[in-house]
Amino acid sequence: MTSNVIDGKAIAAELRIKVKDAVSSLESQPTLAVVLVGEDPASQVYVRSKIKFTKKCGMRSIERRLPTTATQAEIVETVRALNVDESVDGILVQLPLPKGINSDAVIEQINPSKDVDGLTETSAGRLILGKAGLRPCTPTGCVILAKSALGDLSGKHCVVLGRSILVGKPAALLFLEQNCTVTIAHSRTDNLANVCRGADILIPAVGRAEMVKGDWIKAGACVIDVGINRVPNADKSGKTRLVGDVAYNEATSVAGSITPVPGGVGPMTIACLLRNTVLAACVRRGWETPKILNI
Ligand code: NDP
Repeated sequence: MTSNVIDGKAIAAELRIKVKDAVSSLESQPTLAVVLVGEDPASQVYVRSKIKFTKKCGMRSIERRLPTTATQAEIVETVRALNVDESVDGILVQLPLPKGINSDAVIEQINPSKDVDGLTETSAGRLILGKAGLRPCTPTGCVILAKSALGDLSGKHCVVLGRSILVGKPAALLFLEQNCTVTIAHSRTDNLANVCRGADILIPAVGRAEMVKGDWIKAGACVIDVGINRVPNADKSGKTRLVGDVAYNEATSVAGSITPVPGGVGPMTIACLLRNTVLAACVRRGWETPKILNI
């Protein structure tokens, strides 16, 4: 058996088209504000791509750049100014923030109605309470990818490997919202391979290169690999490549469907951010949410 490869790039592109269509049906353009502090090269790349896709979807993008030396108070002040700016629908603070800055305290300043990353305590609370709200982007992307392969997820056993605030915990709650039976596994889980073998849907979000072996996967399971790990090339050329948390070549002879790394979950994160910006704009401005954005 060879797995169906879930093409995250194509599915993200489809979602961006839906976002663009949704935007064109709205009374005015939603606006996403991105706050970037310091010079972290990876963050600069992410922010550039977020801005590019925001504009491509027909939305307005604004950027607030602060130097590495910015103080906690200056960053908080920037977020507060965006909170009270009526033209701004979504606020994203690019993480990680420079050393010495308390990221949690900055995130907590974001007005929950503009929290397009879904990371404030209000957004997390609404998720756990099962109330409508803005959901974290990467886990939402995982649900969309799993649905693209399996359709209705009701009754499926979903094993989420990892319990971080950013990915594992919200992913578990989002698959529960889809009526999956959810197991959360982590570094203290006994018989991890056995637990994974019980999964109809396996979501590794650990950050350990190729940790999940082929024989950890139930035949026919859907594997959504969140992990992004940089490893040296096998040819000892000194170059590196990206791999996921799953030993991909082994897994493709067992899994029914699987996401590649890169090109799986990664592209979904930005597409879900754009979707969240439209959702936030609709709720804040009292517009009906375009049905095309339902997942
Ligand atoms: P964290 O380091 O915050 O969390 C990792 C989780 O994995 C923890 O819950 C930890 O358990 C668990 N873990 C660590 N080692 C093991 C082990 N040996 N066995 C079982 N569980 C283990 O990472 P994140 O959640 O932020 O990210 C996870 C991965 O996803 C990373 O590779 C990251 O780069 C990637 N990522 C990808 C995104 C994308 O867009 N595709 C977005 C965000 C992240 P414990 O709690 O017990 O320590």
